[in-house]
Amino acid sequence: MQCALCGKAKEVNITRPLCGECFLKDYESRIRRLIQREKLITPQDRVLVAVSGGKDSLSCAQVLYTLGYSIAVLHVDVGVAACTNPRTRNVVERFCEERDIPFYFLSFSEYLGVDMDEFFRKARRPRCATCGMLKRYVFNRFARENGFTKLATGHCADDIARYFLKAWVSGSKESFLWLEKLKPLTPSLHPRVVARIRPLFFSLEQENYAYTKFRGIVVAGCTMCSFFLRKDSWTEMLHRIEEVRRDFALAVARTLARQPEKGEANDTFQECRICGEPTNREICAVCRVRERCSPLTPTGRSGRQGGMTQEAR
Ligand SMILES: [Zn+2]
Ligand SMILES: [Zn+2]
Repeated sequence: MQCALCGKAKEVNITRPLCGECFLKDYESRIRRLIQREKLITPQDRVLVAVSGGKDSLSCAQVLYTLGYSIAVLHVDVGVAACTNPRTRNVVERFCEERDIPFYFLSFSEYLGVDMDEFFRKARRPRCATCGMLKRYVFNRFARENGFTKLATGHCADDIARYFLKAWVSGSKESFLWLEKLKPLTPSLHPRVVARIRPLFFSLEQENYAYTKFRGIVVAGCTMCSFFLRKDSWTEMLHRIEEVRRDFALAVARTLARQPEKGEANDTFQECRICGEPTNREICAVCRVRERCSPLTPTGRSGRQGGMTQEAR
């Protein structure tokens, strides 16, 4: 089979047959157009990209870098060895070093001043849900405290479709309402919330994988939720649906992106009585769990500072 664009031998066939060179051009120009059309990044922005070391977040950092945007990268140690470990940190750090991208590292445990095993246990919910909650909290706070105006993540169309399925089935009004914010750009509706951008909103997992391959990027996948081993039921469901409707993930992403934005400031937001982060309760979800954990040091280190380690070049 031949490349649909140039007629050379095809090297990849995800939505159509393409050679490596045309794939890269197509992938990057689609993302460049999305960034321009939706104003994901403006010249005044300082962009922080959260990078786990997996194919999606590394693709996100690489594509922004290739398109000439000035970015910094944050890698967090989530306290689950299967997800982040010295190897993932090494991969991300080297990626940044080779491209001269400022690299920041922090560990949840040090940032929050708690033992992560205890935190995950006391959160009394699935680890992935707790980890997601912590990432939202830590990424936002770190970005704001360090003067970043946009926080970029590697969420792709497959992730969006999984969230959509979960939210529909959850019976939770909050998850359902949250779908409204699931767009390439989630603007900040509160001074303490940093706007989110998702440049890979319309890219597929398989495309991100091919992108890292063609760009020669070393990836350190999470063994719990990587592309290869992701075996949760939502992925299974998504794959089954895609057997009959091949473009399901993209169709969901397009539909969500088109939903009208309410864009109202969320007046139920208040500041957490303990840490000051925005929340819709008196005490935020992270502090509620942290309160149940014993502090790491007997001196009662304040969680506000939390012994954060950061390194920037
Ligand atoms: Zn070609
Ligand atoms: Zn709090």
